[in-house]
Amino acid sequence: MSVGPLLDQKRARKVLEQVLTSGELPPAFLFVGPHGTGREEAALELARALNCAPGSAPTADLFGGDPATDGPEDTGLYGSVLGGCGTCHSCRRISTYGHPDVIVRLPLPRPKSPKQNDPADPTAALAFKAENPYRDPEIEGGNLSIGIADVRAVTSQLAYAPVEGRQRVIIFREAELMNEQAQNALLKSLEEPPDHTLIILTTNRPEALLSTVRSRCRTIYFGPLPRDVIATWLEGAGLVMPGGADFAALARGSLKRAIAIAEGGVPAREEALQILSWVIEGRSPEALKWAAAHAFKSGRGAQVTARQVLDELLSLTRDVAVLQAGSEVPLMNPDQEQLLRSVGAGASVGAGVEALEAIITARGEVDRFVNLALIYTSLFEALKPLGA
Ligand SMILES: [Zn+2]
Repeated sequence: MSVGPLLDQKRARKVLEQVLTSGELPPAFLFVGPHGTGREEAALELARALNCAPGSAPTADLFGGDPATDGPEDTGLYGSVLGGCGTCHSCRRISTYGHPDVIVRLPLPRPKSPKQNDPADPTAALAFKAENPYRDPEIEGGNLSIGIADVRAVTSQLAYAPVEGRQRVIIFREAELMNEQAQNALLKSLEEPPDHTLIILTTNRPEALLSTVRSRCRTIYFGPLPRDVIATWLEGAGLVMPGGADFAALARGSLKRAIAIAEGGVPAREEALQILSWVIEGRSPEALKWAAAHAFKSGRGAQVTARQVLDELLSLTRDVAVLQAGSEVPLMNPDQEQLLRSVGAGASVGAGVEALEAIITARGEVDRFVNLALIYTSLFEALKPLGA
């Protein structure tokens, strides 16, 4: 069992190991960091540590292992090793999302009427994650969220003792997509934590959580992964970044992003490149058509797309400004150097910097829930000088 990139999250690892050694668990953790930096793996490692039981003899071992020989010798120190033994019956069920006391929920589309008040069923998405820890399942229906029904489906079980009598761990992945009602429903469990229960929220946008939720959690930060860690992982998986190892910069410290790029592209980045091409070719109608298609999707899904696309546009335009200034700073998008150089060469002096400012403004407006159609329309207008 690989312990994954958490190995290189030294700060996070140290804090979690201290917690395990002290035996004093907080009622809840908030794991904050970009996607693909090992937050979910850390949550599972902690869950394995707390429930690891080498030598425990399952009545029916679904994995065909031999409980008598699997896992290290019983030293009486179980629960103090982050990641657990990784091989016992308990650890393996946690890694494959099959342990009754380790419950994982992630944002999913709302069930359609008349079942809209039912919790979404995470079975298929979790089965995919068990096989592909660093890839996202393709989920039909868009507009993902963790709703009140999903939270209640979990919290309703908290009145009972853990099924196997050890430590129950509840993990809400991408908690920034938990709506306000759902967060309020969770608050009660955070305020009066049931015995033997640890709640872990992972997020890349802690500001999207209610302050009352955040204040009940112990926050642990996950930074971008070092380049060489990502390069080594990709090499081990037989994946190649376009242009080779120098292009690890494109991954921006996220293993998930690196894998997506090596496997054919990050959708938001492809869209940002498309928008940039439309702008420089003076094809505003196409850009506006794209904006209309995206702006009128309702709910948080459109907001998430807007943030992702604008972040990609920001990184591309930043490189245009770097090239225009003749700076030696490394590019964030070295695979697009030719395109970005031609944009910079064709545009008026300073157009790159002005475009950057316009994108930063638009990005702030998305967070303030300004109408997306208005944001896109004025942004594309402001980007026009790039095509001059
Ligand atoms: Zn174990």
